Amino acid sequence: MSDWYKLETSDVVSEFESDPVDGLANTIASQRLEKYGPNELIEQGGESPWKILLDQFTETMVVILMIAAIISLVLGEYIDFVAIIVIIILNALIGFRQEYKAEQAMAALKKLAVPIVKVRRSGHVAEISSTELVPGDIVLLEAGNIVPADGRLIESHNLQTQESALTGESEPVSKISSALHGADLPLAERENAIYMGTIVTYGRGQAIITETGMDTELGNIADLMQSAGVDQTPLQKRLDQLGKILAMAALVLVGIVFGLGFLQGESFEILLLTGISLAVAAVPEGLPAVVTISLALGARRMLNRQALIRKLPAVEALGSVTVICSDKTGTLTENRMTVTVLDVADHRIDLVEELSRTYTGTVSLPCVDAVPSSDQAEKLHASPALTLLLAGAALCNDAILDCNERRPDRFHIVGDPTEGALLVAASRMGLGKNTLEAIFPRVDEVPFDSERKRMTTVNRMPTSPADIPDGFKPVWDWDGWTEEFDYVAFTKGSVDGLLDISNQVWIENRVEPMNADWRDRIEVANSKLAQKGMRVLGVACRSIDELPIQANGNNAESELIFVGLVGMIDPARPEVKEAVQKCRTAGIRPIMITGDHPLTARHIAEELEIYSENGVLTGQELDDLSMDELEEIVEKVSVFARVTPEHKLKIVRALKNRGQITAMTGDGVNDAPALKAADIGVAMGITGTDVSKEASDMVLLNDNFATIVAAVEEGRVIYDNIRKFIKYTLSSNAGEIWAMLAAPLLGMPLALLPLQILWINLVTDGLPGLALSVEKEEPDTMRRPPYPPNENIFARGVGRDIIWVGLLMGLLSIGVGYWYWSLGLATWQTMIFTTLTFSEMGYVMAIRSNRESLFSIGLFSNTALLGAVVLTVVLQLAVVYIPFLQSLFRTTALSFQDLMICFGLSILLFLVVELRKLIIRLRS
Ligand code: ATP
Repeated sequence: MSDWYKLETSDVVSEFESDPVDGLANTIASQRLEKYGPNELIEQGGESPWKILLDQFTETMVVILMIAAIISLVLGEYIDFVAIIVIIILNALIGFRQEYKAEQAMAALKKLAVPIVKVRRSGHVAEISSTELVPGDIVLLEAGNIVPADGRLIESHNLQTQESALTGESEPVSKISSALHGADLPLAERENAIYMGTIVTYGRGQAIITETGMDTELGNIADLMQSAGVDQTPLQKRLDQLGKILAMAALVLVGIVFGLGFLQGESFEILLLTGISLAVAAVPEGLPAVVTISLALGARRMLNRQALIRKLPAVEALGSVTVICSDKTGTLTENRMTVTVLDVADHRIDLVEELSRTYTGTVSLPCVDAVPSSDQAEKLHASPALTLLLAGAALCNDAILDCNERRPDRFHIVGDPTEGALLVAASRMGLGKNTLEAIFPRVDEVPFDSERKRMTTVNRMPTSPADIPDGFKPVWDWDGWTEEFDYVAFTKGSVDGLLDISNQVWIENRVEPMNADWRDRIEVANSKLAQKGMRVLGVACRSIDELPIQANGNNAESELIFVGLVGMIDPARPEVKEAVQKCRTAGIRPIMITGDHPLTARHIAEELEIYSENGVLTGQELDDLSMDELEEIVEKVSVFARVTPEHKLKIVRALKNRGQITAMTGDGVNDAPALKAADIGVAMGITGTDVSKEASDMVLLNDNFATIVAAVEEGRVIYDNIRKFIKYTLSSNAGEIWAMLAAPLLGMPLALLPLQILWINLVTDGLPGLALSVEKEEPDTMRRPPYPPNENIFARGVGRDIIWVGLLMGLLSIGVGYWYWSLGLATWQTMIFTTLTFSEMGYVMAIRSNRESLFSIGLFSNTALLGAVVLTVVLQLAVVYIPFLQSLFRTTALSFQDLMICFGLSILLFLVVELRKLIIRLRS
């Protein structure tokens, strides 16, 4: 049934045997989970194991090899034919295993990215993975959530959703909870229904889940799921292109060799063999696979450092980041707010002594149901302004203070830490939120948003003294409210904003017009607190006669009575200062972008050494700048305050126009565009909304700035290692090509047989190559500027090294081969084959570091690579000495002396590369 929208909420709830307050019982929820399955869409476009396996056989190299196999068959070389086929299969299996591992690593990351939903279960509000939702669950929705399944609203407070994923309509739709009657309505008009995959852009509400997983409307649109493809990273795309260019080059090379040989009167059979060998030598087989594996495994390493990668290209882009734009609250600071100052219109109360202890969360706290003790009641009674300030801060508040009944010294804040801090402060004065709400029930609200920087609640006034609990009576027994009215609205938010909409001020038992003196006094108090790095919120109130208030809050958020300020400290995260320093040495500029007051921002920025001489730019100032001016300013100013998400977008664009590679953090509903526009959008794992996470490339599981820097570091290491692998593989291939080309010029027969080249490329190259991807970081990784993202892979000496090392490898092996051949020794080809293999081992050991010598980084610091080298040497010896393999690979057993020559040449190559690094070190 999908006509839930026609029913009354109570009917829908009873249909699912649920309860709007207690939700489903846990036992029933698990039974339903069994019955309906997890709430997830089944991706049909994903990489199935079979597809991965099949892909292994369609690579260019495999196609060349298949042609080689067919030619061998035609020429009657049956052993070669079988051997090539075996190698193709082995290669496919190894490739499959690696790629499957990479795929699984990514799938595991994807699972971690599943949103968490708030749901009522067995009388509690629980946070569960959205995959565990079942029909009948009561979910709590708020701005920033992605709707986790289809449902019917049972409560809506200005709830709006953006349903473009389903209906194509990009304007948000207002949602209601009452039943809709009449004929069948299209999806877009079912105002009381919510749909999986749509976004809550505003307000809050509760819904009963009616369909989950593939039964949802989104599940019905099969096409959407098919398109869930995996993006190739820029590097992968470039490598794909490189592979194609090399394949073309191989063809040209084969053509030349063919032509030359033909002129020399070589037999067709030999020419064909040479051609195939060259083609095999030129194509860098493992390259794309190694890149995918390095990136995926790198993403797993990043996870260990608390950075969850959502999009693989981010791993690569991270290494090139030049600017990190970070929010302040929670990312640079701890987001452990503690109220330390209360300031009412005519006096200030410092609570450092009394309240700072609650900061540890271990001080006994009379929780949400607190009622003032007689002492507290006396204090509150003496200062009605203080009472109103704390009560307003606790009522205009969506956080919950969760206390352990048996251990009242342990409390836990559910919701926004800023609001939690206000609840703690109120509770410590005996004003528990639950008790307050029982006296002043909330009847309407305008939720917080980062554009207005405030929120408002409307609460019903008690109708008779009997509504007020005894403990509270002395508190409210003052004649502040002289007039009679039905509702009171409390607004809390940025002080500057509140002053603009307040025309009166509350002074203990009276209300006075807001004159210049009062305004000055409030502004000075605000600046004084902000200068100390405090977050300052103002509280104001007014009477309301009629409901509902306008959705934009205009009629409730005007002509307010300003009550007072609350100052709270939020210490800078201790590890951030070091991370900022690390950024600087790594050529990355940290920028703070915050919604908070410019003075608060400046204080924290100075403490963390982000602040620059060029001052703080506010959102308002930013509005007056043209794009050109902004582009200039973003290069200088490092602190932006009182900004809105729109400003963030402008800043990202300006930075990008300047060619900066920007990482930008965000957590709010409206941050998605800025996160998408940034090169790396970074969302907050703890405080971030689903929407911001969905728009991001990376999620910080601990919300910490230092994690971004750690991820950049990891990104650089991964990129360095990929470059090392490219250098290693292409130098080896070049060595083979030189040897192959030189042989006919020296009048020698084919230097290497196709099978031998295959062996080198797939086995002896492949194993150590893979181990290079786990190489540890270079000492200068975070002491050098970032590489430009579009920089050629062959830049910074990679191309040069490929040419000269390849040439040297080719020379050494063909040299020794020519020497043996001219002496008439049968081992000449085996010598070329083994010298090449061994010298590659020498090379791989030498390029573990770009600068440092192997002896300073330690022979045993990459045991995977050392193991791969030893194994490769053993395998090569097997090919040279085991009779069956000898006949397969056409090798001849080498004497001990021969073997030592091969080893000696490999050490020679190692020493030459080490010498080159020594020269580089001496020069700088
Ligand atoms: P950052 O971007 O560094 O995370 P922020 O979290 O301070 O900054 P916002 O959350 O947009 O940015 O807050 C901006 C301003 O809005 C704050 O300075 C404060 O004055 C006000 N504010 C923040 N939270 C609330 C809230 N829960 N209720 C009312 N006002 C709030």
